[in-house]
Amino acid sequence: MKQNPFLSGLSQLEQAAVLMREAMDESQNKRLDEVLAILHAPQRIVDVRFPVRMDDGIMRIFDGFRIQYNNTLGPYKGGIRFHPDVDEEEVKALSFWMTFKNAVVGLPLGGGKGGVVVDPKTLSQTELENVSRGYVRAIAAVIGPHVDIPAPDVNTNSTIMGWMTDEYVKIKSMTSHGDSKQVERLRGTFTGKAVQDGGIEGRESATGLGGAYVFEQIVRKLGKDPQSMTAAIQGYGNVGYYVAKYLTDMGVKVIAASDSKGAIVVPEGINPDLTLQCKVEKGKLAGCYCVGSVCDIDRGDETDPENILAMEVDILIPAALEGVLHKENAKDVNASIVLEMANGPTTPEADEIFAGRGITVIPDILANSGGVTVSSYEWEQNVSGKKMDRQMVEMKLKEAMMAATDAVWEKASQHETSLRMGAFIVALERLTQAFSQ
Ligand code: NAD
Repeated sequence: MKQNPFLSGLSQLEQAAVLMREAMDESQNKRLDEVLAILHAPQRIVDVRFPVRMDDGIMRIFDGFRIQYNNTLGPYKGGIRFHPDVDEEEVKALSFWMTFKNAVVGLPLGGGKGGVVVDPKTLSQTELENVSRGYVRAIAAVIGPHVDIPAPDVNTNSTIMGWMTDEYVKIKSMTSHGDSKQVERLRGTFTGKAVQDGGIEGRESATGLGGAYVFEQIVRKLGKDPQSMTAAIQGYGNVGYYVAKYLTDMGVKVIAASDSKGAIVVPEGINPDLTLQCKVEKGKLAGCYCVGSVCDIDRGDETDPENILAMEVDILIPAALEGVLHKENAKDVNASIVLEMANGPTTPEADEIFAGRGITVIPDILANSGGVTVSSYEWEQNVSGKKMDRQMVEMKLKEAMMAATDAVWEKASQHETSLRMGAFIVALERLTQAFSQ
């Protein structure tokens, strides 16, 4: 049975607090107790039901959530997930991790997350648009460019963000009186938009690129060379594809990958772009054995998606859903580094097993923070009107990822603990300081 992801998150927080208390006096301990009491639950849970007219004329009711975990550091910020398994505990966990992720990078943003219980693969394009617009109508009262700023997550993308932005601007345009600057500011309510809809260059690739920067910095600190490394990726979606692309550029050989329908093993190392093109054409990753400039059936093999997690590789990259590395399968992992591009892929029990086996886990709240970092630039661009080009975005992203990685590494070394605990301590210290002001 899937472990409750929110309880996993709370357990991570409690472990970090225990480490912090070691060096604290009584008054600091009391202060931490107060902060933890606030951070143990979300500030607001918005639970919505909304109607959508389907293509056959029948009206269906959909369930959705927007959870605003904490806004001490700034407006709530976090993606919207479309998935049949979305529930309140999952969205709560994801909004919790957003709170700590934004604090690790030092962004002026709090944590939030949204979700709709829907399998988008069963919807037509019109139905998908109507679900996206219906969800925005249901949550419009609680979001806004200075209140709560959603973004894409699993099964949502720039097209969906475009529909959502359009719907939100329509709802609020009564108050903008045709003022174009005001409309542009309202567009800042959503990030991850296409450039023509007010998005920013480089947002789509930001999570993968940020993960590659973090990985490069950690590997340098570990004294290892990425050029001699192999990787396996679970989840070849937005994040999985881009991280494959940037790691391949760095010299890493991605020898296995999976999606929800199947998995491939390509010993020579995949060509990430051709593999994506093949996946889009076929509608699945299975059979896409793309090496160099060709996709050729003799180059690879199909395998069970579960096998990806136990592959003989240097780097295991979960880039799909939470809780996939747990106490039953952690012993089977054969990688020496786990680069957590998904949110919450490792349960606390698996973390303990990895620590005991000397496996380095690069934690989600650091590894995948590139997405929200560039989202924050997009938001700034919308509210200030000042444009940023791709070169500037990537330069700033690199600086932000390097600074966050150094801070996490230093804190982990100081407390002689894991990088996850290092990241939580960096975040908790920033949150505690902000609570005290
Ligand atoms: P996506 O919808 O683009 O891709 C998800 C991929 O995972 C798809 O290819 C899907 O087929 C695959 N998948 C689903 N279940 C699977 C399974 N059981 N085994 C193997 N593959 C499976 O979503 P995404 O935006 O790439 O998000 C992936 C992860 O990264 C999520 O955990 C998300 O929260 C996290 N994340 C995303 C962003 C972002 O900017 N999109 C930022 C930070 C974190």
